[in-house]
Amino acid sequence: MTTAAQLQRSSSASEVPPHADVVVIGAGFGGMSALYRFRQLGLSLFGFEQGTDVGGTWYWNRYPGARCDVESVDYCYSFSRELLGEWQWSERFSTQPEILDYAGYVADRFDLRRDIKFETKVVSSRYDEAANLWTVTTDKGESITCQYLVTTVGCLSVPKDPEFEGLENFKGEWVQTGAWPKQGVDWAGKNVIVVGTGSSAIQTIPEVAKTAGHLSVFQRTANYTVPAYNGPLPDHRREEVFADYPAYLEMLKHTRGGQTFELGTDLSAADFSHEEQRERLEQAWQLGRWNLQSCFRDITINENTNRMVADFFAAKVRETVKDPATAEKLIPSGYPLGTKRLCLDSDYFETFNRDNVDLIDINEEPIVRITESGLQTDKQEYPADLIIFAIGFDAMTGPLVNLGIEGRGGQSLKQAWQDGPECYLGIAAPGFPNLFMVNGPSSVSVLSNMILTLEHHIDWIADCIEAMRGKGRDTIEARDDATHEWAAHTEMVANRTLFPKANSWYMGANVEGKPRMFLAYIGGFDNYVAKFDAVAANDFEGFDLTTSKVEERA
Ligand code: NAP
Repeated sequence: MTTAAQLQRSSSASEVPPHADVVVIGAGFGGMSALYRFRQLGLSLFGFEQGTDVGGTWYWNRYPGARCDVESVDYCYSFSRELLGEWQWSERFSTQPEILDYAGYVADRFDLRRDIKFETKVVSSRYDEAANLWTVTTDKGESITCQYLVTTVGCLSVPKDPEFEGLENFKGEWVQTGAWPKQGVDWAGKNVIVVGTGSSAIQTIPEVAKTAGHLSVFQRTANYTVPAYNGPLPDHRREEVFADYPAYLEMLKHTRGGQTFELGTDLSAADFSHEEQRERLEQAWQLGRWNLQSCFRDITINENTNRMVADFFAAKVRETVKDPATAEKLIPSGYPLGTKRLCLDSDYFETFNRDNVDLIDINEEPIVRITESGLQTDKQEYPADLIIFAIGFDAMTGPLVNLGIEGRGGQSLKQAWQDGPECYLGIAAPGFPNLFMVNGPSSVSVLSNMILTLEHHIDWIADCIEAMRGKGRDTIEARDDATHEWAAHTEMVANRTLFPKANSWYMGANVEGKPRMFLAYIGGFDNYVAKFDAVAANDFEGFDLTTSKVEERA
């Protein structure tokens, strides 16, 4: 096995060329995959990345305890058999530093950095109808034209600003999990406050509690979280994965969520006896991952089944957390289990048994303001040397509307989506020709295994560009009717589930003023892939493929 340290760091681009066939924005896992795949087509390429290196989500989210909640053998690139043979994960759910090492290894291994300009933010991307070209401009004042613009900017890459009164006067340090300082943060022996109890906080809290002087956790909504049981990959999974690794990853593209679960089933809770139901739930708890959400087919569609599983969950919290009042605060209510992303944790509930940790429910004790020396609620002031905001992201649309994209007639993506995003297949929008948004709104992305879903999009885009060239076409644009239909379909599928009942980021409910709608496709990765296959086989149904006047004149 070659290690990341054995490969020399490949050098990155310093000059921006005047033109490339494809410009890729973002050098996370999507951007790297795009550069690799489009190079194979012989296209000229250029990429921009705000960070100093590759990694995307795993570059920015350096908070303590950050790990992937999908097993690393599943959450990895499938595009190269050699790479699959070379890289070995040291743990079942890899840490952020190891995933970042992997990203760096891939960049070196395939010399991807040579086409990427780092520390560069794209500030506008304008479509010129007469020339049938996009012009991408950066914060350094550079610009480049391209025929195809591909965004790989992530679904959860714009952290919400902590808009708390008085924060500007706080004399201590404050940080955000989603933009954790690269130089690190020291919390040993300090009074620390964590605001938020989503996936990021649930991973941060146990780590910080180990060495903080005191940790106060401010919770607005209790969350469902199951033990990750991190460690070496269990034997039964080793056998399943490594018997034929490439075939295994290919198989995952034909599953609902880009992963398999030991207790995954097509049977509903009612198909099991009461005793069998208890046994399955207990087994699911012991197996970890999303088995608890997968052990009955109808958990996220049937309220009774959901309540039964939620009651089982509540009993586990009561068993674990010693102080009954704290346990009750930690038991979620008011939304169904699984309709906010089920978190995976390491000793989250156990952490509230520590003497140096307390939990404040801000519904009972609202935050009034941040003071110079801590956080003031309507009852008391909590002193703090460090405040960690783990308050989430402007998900799905935030990263895209921030790119200053302007399509036909100068219409901005922000305007086009002001009443909610309509994005055909989660990849393209009418009025924005030759723009491909990898894992855009209404894509399966966040409800599946992200790396496999973005590889799927990129392969499809590459095949599409190749097919267009074969047909002598140079312009592709999503049709209005197909886009409305896809939006209606994604909404209809979501409305068959309990997901719309939660005030989640899936619903855009975590950002004030954001239109409330389900922002992803919940019909399954398998059905999603089948839809893309059908669209391609049917002469790119739902898209207009044309030849621009510029090409005709040439
Ligand atoms: P999140 O799930 O949106 O959680 C944000 C938390 O902050 C929630 O508890 C929220 O409460 C709270 N909050 C927001 N605004 C607040 C305010 N003004 N005052 C007090 N509390 C406030 O964000 P996240 O934890 O960063 O996770 C987002 C997503 O990123 C996850 O669902 C997951 O998809 C991904 N993620 C994955 C991993 C992994 O792979 N291991 C790790 C981290 C994140 P409410 O619930 O009441 O809004």
